Amino acid sequence: MRQLRWITPERLARERSTSERADLAEFLRVSQLGVLVYAEGPSLTVLVGVGVGAARRPYTYPQVTQLMELASIMESALERAHFSAKVQRTEQLATVGLVGASLAHEIRNPLVSIKTFVQLLPTHHQDPAFREKFFRLIGSEVDRIDQLTEQLLDLSAPRAYAAVEVALHEVMRSSLELVTAKAADKQVAFSADFSARPDTVFTDPAAAKQVMLNLCFNAIQAVDAHRGEECWVRVATRNVDGGVEMSVSDSGPGIAPEMRDRLFQPFQTTKSTGFGLGLAICRDILANLHASISVDPPVAGKGATFRVTYPCQVSLS
Ligand code: ADP
Repeated sequence: MRQLRWITPERLARERSTSERADLAEFLRVSQLGVLVYAEGPSLTVLVGVGVGAARRPYTYPQVTQLMELASIMESALERAHFSAKVQRTEQLATVGLVGASLAHEIRNPLVSIKTFVQLLPTHHQDPAFREKFFRLIGSEVDRIDQLTEQLLDLSAPRAYAAVEVALHEVMRSSLELVTAKAADKQVAFSADFSARPDTVFTDPAAAKQVMLNLCFNAIQAVDAHRGEECWVRVATRNVDGGVEMSVSDSGPGIAPEMRDRLFQPFQTTKSTGFGLGLAICRDILANLHASISVDPPVAGKGATFRVTYPCQVSLS
């Protein structure tokens, strides 16, 4: 694969056969893959395979090129995730295999549905109901791939965040509307208790917004997915030693036991539609800004509480 970079059954059949190539062809056949692409970085290799389509039509070269671009984005994102994980937690090495598999799965599902619809287009384009469904589905599937690549890019090349003097409450209030709208939509009671005085911190306003939105949306989702007697999310601030703490608490089920040790690692999710990147991105962004994020130890019958501490002094490093 290192030599060939990409293979399809058609390419292997066309080219001079060697025993390795025959093995690869057999691998494609047994795994029912229509294309397999390869991307290599300094410390890890990404292989992305996409299944044979329903119509068994060969993949075209432009499709292969797109997949190779995607594989190379994944490779650099994984490289970075892998690197920081390696520094912070050696045992995370074991998850790299899982990451590749879940990513391929995430991208393959929308690609397969897009492909199926495109194949039906020539015979069904006169049907208005089909056309309507086509536009709706293609739009949402492309959005999903788009979201994933955007999050991967965030992880692979984070925007340059810069810490400036910020009135934290003002920054938080400016994104609160999004949170209250989402909470109202899901019928979750939302409250904000901004008690920190003063609330001046050194951070990047865009980063602080993103972190608050991520934590609040996660909390609303958790509460909504496990509706109990109480359904609430609360965001609060208070002064702590050397900084201002923002906490997001909820009445949800708390952190699932299998997630506790790897909550902030990339691609760890319990949601069927989640990517498991939100908390990893938050941790990454905050570490760059000398802020920290943690979750309270589990207490039976209590939901989750995440705490972010922003420094109230400029950090010189
Ligand atoms: P995603 O939301 O795509 O799963 P995240 O990194 O934001 O990715 O979250 C990772 C996982 O952490 C979630 O799948 C969920 O299991 C757990 N989690 C995050 N926030 C909460 C919360 N407030 N309550 C319970 N579990 C949570």
